[in-house]
Amino acid sequence: MSLLKTPAIVLKSRKWGEADRIVTFYTLRFGKLRGVARGARRLRNRFGSALEPFVHGELNLFEKRGDSLYRITGADIRDSFAGLRDDLPRMSSAARMANLVGAVTGEGDAHPSIFETLLNGLHVLQSGHDPALTALLFQIKLLGETGFRPQTDHCAACGDGHGRMAGQFSPLAGGLVCLPCARRDRDRCLPMSAGSQAFLQQALRWAPAAVTRLKATGQIRDELEAAVESYVMVVTGKHLPPADFLSRPATL
Ligand SMILES: [Zn+2]
Repeated sequence: MSLLKTPAIVLKSRKWGEADRIVTFYTLRFGKLRGVARGARRLRNRFGSALEPFVHGELNLFEKRGDSLYRITGADIRDSFAGLRDDLPRMSSAARMANLVGAVTGEGDAHPSIFETLLNGLHVLQSGHDPALTALLFQIKLLGETGFRPQTDHCAACGDGHGRMAGQFSPLAGGLVCLPCARRDRDRCLPMSAGSQAFLQQALRWAPAAVTRLKATGQIRDELEAAVESYVMVVTGKHLPPADFLSRPATL
């Protein structure tokens, strides 16, 4: 057994047995991991509220050889983000971000930039920025940190970088598509105006801390919300399409 220490953010927490909890964290040093907190549900427990969703803390854990479940021995709160759990719009935005991190990362695969992006997103939410817009921007950023980065430079379906783009976003292909590809899959593509495309590219490029300076309103916001919502459903549903889906008849 070895003793490990890492900054961590609670993604989710569920009951386990009589008095225990199984908690999923995104950690700075080890990426996503799950741990069991013995006695965490007893009235007097040493964890206090450190295992609530979105809490940022310093985690002490034991790793048992051959077991993917860690044993949590201690958790010190750095920021409880209590304000995110007593306000419904902020809580649902925080949950959206935590769920996406959980869905796009593998256990034990460390990406400090994902940790920083999530932590920054929680701080921005807590500071009172528009919760829905904050969630939108941070979902775009998180996708951009992973293999699910929305494709904006060339057609996400056929890879053509020179054809005429259609002003359409395909959630299944994961990005903007060219005219012929959009025609083949008209029912499942979403319109994306030049303004929305520029906004998406900017959001992907900017540092997480600077993203809050981007303001999306009206049509741009509507288009991006629809595109990101559909794309996140594809990503988190793990229903990633086969590479040739656009050439098949649209039967879904
Ligand atoms: Zn194409």
